[in-house]
Amino acid sequence: MKTRVYKFSFRTGEVSIDHSKCAMCKNYACIKADSLFGTGLLRIEAGKPVLTTNSEDAKRLCSECLACELYCQAYGNAGLHIKLDMLGLDEYRSRLKT
Ligand code: SF4
Repeated sequence: MKTRVYKFSFRTGEVSIDHSKCAMCKNYACIKADSLFGTGLLRIEAGKPVLTTNSEDAKRLCSECLACELYCQAYGNAGLHIKLDMLGLDEYRSRLKT
Protein backbone atom coordinates (compact mmCIF):
# COMPACT_ATOMS: atom_id res chain seq x y z
CA MET A 1 0.00 0.00 0.00
CA LYS A 2 1.29 3.46 -0.88
CA THR A 3 2.20 5.58 2.16
CA ARG A 4 0.49 8.94 2.30
CA VAL A 5 1.63 11.16 5.18
CA TYR A 6 -0.57 14.14 5.99
CA LYS A 7 1.21 16.88 7.94
CA PHE A 8 0.35 20.13 9.63
CA SER A 9 2.12 22.39 12.10
CA PHE A 10 1.09 23.92 15.37
CA ARG A 11 2.90 26.60 17.33
CA THR A 12 5.61 24.40 18.82
CA GLY A 13 5.56 21.24 16.71
CA GLU A 14 4.20 19.18 13.86
CA VAL A 15 1.58 16.45 13.46
CA SER A 16 2.17 13.64 10.94
CA ILE A 17 -0.63 11.23 10.07
CA ASP A 18 0.15 8.12 8.03
CA HIS A 19 -3.08 7.69 6.11
CA SER A 20 -2.15 4.15 5.07
CA LYS A 21 -2.51 3.16 8.73
CA CYS A 22 -5.76 5.09 9.09
CA ALA A 23 -7.23 2.98 6.28
CA MET A 24 -7.04 0.00 8.65
CA CYS A 25 -8.11 1.89 11.79
CA LYS A 26 -11.26 0.60 13.46
CA ASN A 27 -12.20 3.51 15.72
CA TYR A 28 -10.73 6.91 14.70
CA ALA A 29 -9.51 7.49 18.24
CA CYS A 30 -7.77 10.70 17.12
CA ILE A 31 -11.14 12.28 16.34
CA LYS A 32 -12.56 11.25 19.69
CA ALA A 33 -9.54 12.71 21.52
CA ASP A 34 -9.76 15.94 19.55
CA SER A 35 -13.45 16.30 20.38
CA LEU A 36 -12.90 15.52 24.08
CA PHE A 37 -9.68 17.45 24.78
CA GLY A 38 -8.77 19.47 21.69
CA THR A 39 -10.43 22.17 19.65
CA GLY A 40 -12.20 20.16 16.94
CA LEU A 41 -9.48 20.53 14.33
CA LEU A 42 -9.83 17.04 12.86
CA ARG A 43 -12.60 15.44 10.82
CA ILE A 44 -12.87 12.31 8.72
CA GLU A 45 -12.86 12.72 4.94
CA ALA A 46 -12.93 9.62 2.74
CA GLY A 47 -11.98 7.51 5.75
CA LYS A 48 -8.98 9.63 6.73
CA PRO A 49 -8.45 12.32 9.37
CA VAL A 50 -7.83 15.78 7.90
CA LEU A 51 -8.02 19.35 9.17
CA THR A 52 -11.39 21.05 9.50
CA THR A 53 -9.72 24.34 8.67
CA ASN A 54 -6.72 25.70 6.76
CA SER A 55 -3.21 25.14 8.06
CA GLU A 56 -2.74 28.71 9.29
CA ASP A 57 -5.89 28.58 11.43
CA ALA A 58 -4.89 25.12 12.69
CA LYS A 59 -1.56 26.51 13.86
CA ARG A 60 -3.37 29.24 15.78
CA LEU A 61 -6.22 27.15 17.17
CA CYS A 62 -4.47 23.93 18.23
CA SER A 63 -4.48 23.72 22.05
CA GLU A 64 -1.40 21.44 21.98
CA CYS A 65 -3.03 18.98 24.35
CA LEU A 66 -1.30 16.07 22.51
CA ALA A 67 -4.34 13.87 23.16
CA CYS A 68 -4.70 12.90 19.48
CA GLU A 69 -1.35 11.13 19.56
CA LEU A 70 -1.97 9.44 22.90
CA TYR A 71 -5.39 8.13 21.84
CA CYS A 72 -4.12 7.05 18.43
CA GLN A 73 -1.26 5.10 19.96
CA ALA A 74 -3.44 3.58 22.69
CA TYR A 75 -6.69 2.89 20.83
CA GLY A 76 -6.13 3.58 17.13
CA ASN A 77 -3.71 2.11 14.61
CA ALA A 78 -0.59 4.13 15.55
CA GLY A 79 -0.79 6.34 12.48
CA LEU A 80 -0.43 9.72 14.20
CA HIS A 81 2.83 11.11 15.54
CA ILE A 82 3.70 14.47 17.02
CA LYS A 83 7.15 16.02 16.68
CA LEU A 84 7.96 18.50 19.40
CA ASP A 85 11.15 20.51 19.28
CA MET A 86 12.66 21.04 22.70
CA LEU A 87 14.01 24.54 22.41
CA GLY A 88 17.39 24.93 24.07
CA LEU A 89 18.01 21.17 24.39
CA ASP A 90 21.16 21.18 22.24
CA GLU A 91 22.65 24.08 24.22
CA TYR A 92 21.76 22.35 27.48
CA ARG A 93 23.41 19.11 26.38
CA SER A 94 26.57 20.89 25.22
CA ARG A 95 26.86 22.60 28.63
CA LEU A 96 26.65 19.21 30.35
CA LYS A 97 29.67 18.00 28.36
CA THR A 98 31.92 20.89 29.40
S1 SF4 B 1 -6.63 6.98 15.48
FE1 SF4 B 1 -4.63 7.04 14.45
S2 SF4 B 1 -4.66 5.38 12.95
FE2 SF4 B 1 -6.79 5.78 13.58
S3 SF4 B 1 -7.59 7.27 12.06
FE3 SF4 B 1 -6.76 8.46 13.78
S4 SF4 B 1 -4.63 8.91 13.21
FE4 SF4 B 1 -5.34 7.24 11.88
